Amino acid sequence: MLIVGAGHAGGRAAQALREAGWPGPIVMIGAEAHRPYERPALSKSLLTGERDAGSCALRPDAAWTQDRIEHVVARVAALDLGARAAVLEDGRRFAYDRLLLAPGGRLRRLGIPGADAEGVFGLRTLDDAAAIAARLRPGAHIAIVGGGFIGLEVAASARMRGCRVSVLESARGLLGRAVPAPVGAQMIALHRTRGVEMHLGATLRAIESRADGRLGLRLDGADELVADTVIVGIGIDPDTELARKAGLAVRRGVIVDARLETSVPGIFAAGDAAEFPSRASGLPMRQETWHNAETQARCAALNMLGAARPYDATPWFWSDQYDRQLQVAGEPALGTASVVRKIGDEAEIHFHLDDRGVVVGMSGFGAAGGAAKELKLARMLVERAARPEPARLADLGVRLKSLL
Ligand SMILES: Cc1cc2nc3c(=O)[nH]c(=O)nc-3n(C[C@H](O)[C@H](O)[C@H](O)COP(=O)(O)OP(=O)(O)OC[C@H]3O[C@@H](n4cnc5c(N)ncnc54)[C@H](O)[C@@H]3O)c2cc1C
Repeated sequence: MLIVGAGHAGGRAAQALREAGWPGPIVMIGAEAHRPYERPALSKSLLTGERDAGSCALRPDAAWTQDRIEHVVARVAALDLGARAAVLEDGRRFAYDRLLLAPGGRLRRLGIPGADAEGVFGLRTLDDAAAIAARLRPGAHIAIVGGGFIGLEVAASARMRGCRVSVLESARGLLGRAVPAPVGAQMIALHRTRGVEMHLGATLRAIESRADGRLGLRLDGADELVADTVIVGIGIDPDTELARKAGLAVRRGVIVDARLETSVPGIFAAGDAAEFPSRASGLPMRQETWHNAETQARCAALNMLGAARPYDATPWFWSDQYDRQLQVAGEPALGTASVVRKIGDEAEIHFHLDDRGVVVGMSGFGAAGGAAKELKLARMLVERAARPEPARLADLGVRLKSLL
């Protein structure tokens, strides 16, 4: 059993293979020097200093040894489908009976002058997070390019460290595709209240390294902004290179069927790089979430051992910013109507219903502790494809639990 990519999905799949009783060799090959770790804290508690790198490990070091899972630190350069082997950059070859591709994604880069200047960072790995954390000194001016989830989480962490923070976002609103407009508006208000300078509709033209060591950000139609550090959070591209070169079917991601098997029998894919059929609509989709990596890894592992199990987890995602949490479950885009449940002053849940009145998605926002129970029940309504009376979803007098 060979796994390319020793990140969240790769590591979890290795563990699941052993737990499912596979007695033979398991090898995971990863380009990062670290054992598999979870990434969510990288933009949150790792930057604020509440957690350290060791606490992000997917499993204790000893667990890999106990389970006889071999971790090879190297980059796979190619797949030799004829010989059923992965070929490393240094020429070494690893043969497989079953292969899992779990290479994640690559950070998108800014295509403007100065994008590689010293002091410009992206955030994907533990090493990136350590480099950024060292720059979050009180009073330092941090400019964040991109108002997506990771950019906003970094903004919150940097404010919590006492930095001056500017967010540059080319759209007029935030998180447009991911959450309903009112939730995006609440996020803008939240960050402004906490002192973040929000530049919406801002187009960055160039980054200039100044003689004083700081960075000048040239924006369309605005004065230059001067920052100490620039963090670029404009998303990732799924890493499809190996699959594409080997001739596997690839679109946005590596295409897999409902059992997470690629177009080549015996080769599976999971995590950010996998493009799979939606359980709800059958349409191809990709998810860049912790829950997706976790559940696909376990499903793919069983199918590598011959289980033929369809992947049917309901999508779910969370984002923590300051003391607030945002959650999205299901596929809100499949909804044709929505109902809002106001669960507090600055807390609400948007339910998305399809033509039949089935709850196909929810987007909720509230205090990290206080709203947790309602958000969990809302997620369960999506998971169970509930079909409640819409007015009852909005009515605080009706407990969500009673609608399950
Ligand atoms: C900063 C940050 C914060 C996040 N916060 C949240 C959150 O709050 N909630 C949430 O739901 N999700 C969050 N996520 C998303 C979640 O962490 C990812 O969806 C998840 O890590 C994807 O797992 P993966 O195994 O597909 O990819 P990864 O974890 O990225 O692992 C892929 C690994 O494969 C390696 N690799 C790639 N190509 C090769 C090759 N050719 N040879 C060898 N190795 C290779 C890479 O180096 C990498 O180590 C966050 C992600 C980041 C970066």
